[in-house]
Amino acid sequence: ATATPAHKRILLKLSGEALMGDDAFGINRATIERMVAEVVEVTGMGVEVAVVIGGGNIFRGVAGGSVGMDRATADYMGMLATVMNALALADAMNRQGVTARVMSAIDIQQVVEPYVRPKALQYLEEGKVVIFAAGTGNPFFTTDTAAALRGAEIGAELVLKATKVDGVYTADPYKDPAATRYARLTFDEAMVRNLGIMDATAFALCRDQKLPIRVFSINKPGALKRVVMGEDEGTLVYA
Ligand code: UDP
Repeated sequence: ATATPAHKRILLKLSGEALMGDDAFGINRATIERMVAEVVEVTGMGVEVAVVIGGGNIFRGVAGGSVGMDRATADYMGMLATVMNALALADAMNRQGVTARVMSAIDIQQVVEPYVRPKALQYLEEGKVVIFAAGTGNPFFTTDTAAALRGAEIGAELVLKATKVDGVYTADPYKDPAATRYARLTFDEAMVRNLGIMDATAFALCRDQKLPIRVFSINKPGALKRVVMGEDEGTLVYA
């Protein structure tokens, strides 16, 4: 029997760093191709996928890189960096046979179309991947917050936070071999244990909206598919 996905519509948050692979910055070709292949696989299962892409591989306004700069200016640079990543991601998806549309929270209409919610919903219903660029469009926010916001707006059933580690652990698994992975946690447990799932704004928004978050590794082959199938992969944070 063909198994049906556990989720109809998901919001995938990819950090800019996820595109770097083992490089020090920028976009690693093999890495982006591999990641896109994972996304293509789940769209092939009929799952509607929206992506929020970060920009940390190119520019981070919040910390580093921007020392001494006006914060808002640095943040706008960070948002523009996400647009570059979004274009690369959409290009890789289109080459792998999935139609992707980039929608930007900041107007740059010669490059990408602006974010218009009904249009995003239409694209998703048509089976297109929608890539949300430029975060929330506001300085002092992050793309994690954009993921929570857009996830809530489009009625995603789940926010998928792709990280290097395959879930949330009791301690840093790179440092502590005794660390164990939480299979599931409530928002309150995550808060009490001070587990940094997403930044505070993003976390609060998901918690208020009862929008579950699953932390998983995008570098683990097949992990995205297992998440979509509702299998025990990564860590689920729920209300
Ligand atoms: N940014 C912003 N507002 C947003 C989203 C992002 O100002 O709504 C800026 C911020 O400077 C941030 C940078 O864009 O440092 C890149 O985003 P983020 O750090 O979230 O990327 P990631 O860590 O996921 O690669």
